[in-house]
Amino acid sequence: MTWAEPSSTATALLLLGRGSDADSERGVECPGDLPAPSDPSLVARAAAAKAALGSRVFVLGHHYQRDEVIQFADVTGDSFKLARDAAARPEAEYIVFCGVHFMAESADILTSDRQRVILPDLAAGCSMADMAALPQVEEAWDRLAELGLAADTVPVTYMNSSADIKGFVGRHGGVVCTSSNAERALRWAFDRPAGPGAAGGPRRVLFLPDQHLGRNTAVLQLGFALDDCVLYDPHKPDGGLTEAQLREARMILWRGHCSVHGRFSLDSVNEVRSRVSGVNVLVHPECKHEVVIAADYVGSTEYIIRTLDAAPPGSAWAVGTELNLVRRLANAHPDKQVMFLDRAVCFCSTMNRIDLPHLVWALEELVAGRVVNQITVDEETARYARVALDQMLALPA
Ligand code: SF4
Repeated sequence: MTWAEPSSTATALLLLGRGSDADSERGVECPGDLPAPSDPSLVARAAAAKAALGSRVFVLGHHYQRDEVIQFADVTGDSFKLARDAAARPEAEYIVFCGVHFMAESADILTSDRQRVILPDLAAGCSMADMAALPQVEEAWDRLAELGLAADTVPVTYMNSSADIKGFVGRHGGVVCTSSNAERALRWAFDRPAGPGAAGGPRRVLFLPDQHLGRNTAVLQLGFALDDCVLYDPHKPDGGLTEAQLREARMILWRGHCSVHGRFSLDSVNEVRSRVSGVNVLVHPECKHEVVIAADYVGSTEYIIRTLDAAPPGSAWAVGTELNLVRRLANAHPDKQVMFLDRAVCFCSTMNRIDLPHLVWALEELVAGRVVNQITVDEETARYARVALDQMLALPA
């Protein structure tokens, strides 16, 4: 199994201020009718609305989006790249984020006061991000503080978390990470000097909200044992962990997972290997530990794209990530055999809430001078979330 990632997220990023409270209050109505999916003029309507808005609008398309939406994206990428791209386009008054809610929040945090971030369907959430709510995380932190362990613990959150959780992590001296830089974020966290009142033992990390990325990184990239990791279940008293378990743990993993990547299984890997001779198995680190161990290559969405770009003609690849992206990659590489790792796993259903009718509706409302589905993060949350994002950008290479 190869896990190789560049240090791309450490490149310079200008963190700009976010919108004022007055801005937050404006234009959050839902006027207009959603076009019917069967409307044959949807493509022409989207193109016309986008042309009418010109450089005032910047459309971001996450890699997991449908093709019907991606065709209108000015840029495509993973969540952090898209937020960074938005921040680099200060002339765009409207950022239409074809992704999910936490991504639009990050874009609002990173863009300037005058930019409005729009999520075409507010139901486009992320089940993983929803698995860590702020009151639950505060309760877990209180438990660590009660045991005298908080000063020895650094909170680290995956980009795929709400602005509230990023703000919590920034307030408590932690860092945000992506699937590309989780190893560097964890090394930084474990090397941090202990806070006042620390017991002086080894450092510990509270990793939010994806248990699989946390476990895979700690074990496969930092060399921890599986026993160094414990699983905190927010639905059980004290997280389902004894005081001794918390004291001895190096990694406290939040019980969260991606509902797409978490469904790939060891059986999927074994089945494709028995069916396709010489197949390379390439998976995302949000997959379960046993899947990652059994794979040949593991890495972020951007890594998966680069790996297939560089693969020799005629090679066979079973890819364990979201289906829209795998289909697009298969179409882009007709000289290679690119297949989905498991036919039982489907699209990211929340990401797929953004469809062409919602995009047309959002764009046409902007043409009419109405801002719909604006995503805003309150000033205090945004300030602390930026602390944790800035810390990520400052991670040593
Ligand atoms: S693929 Fe997984 S982590 Fe990504 S938006 Fe969907 S549920 Fe969330």
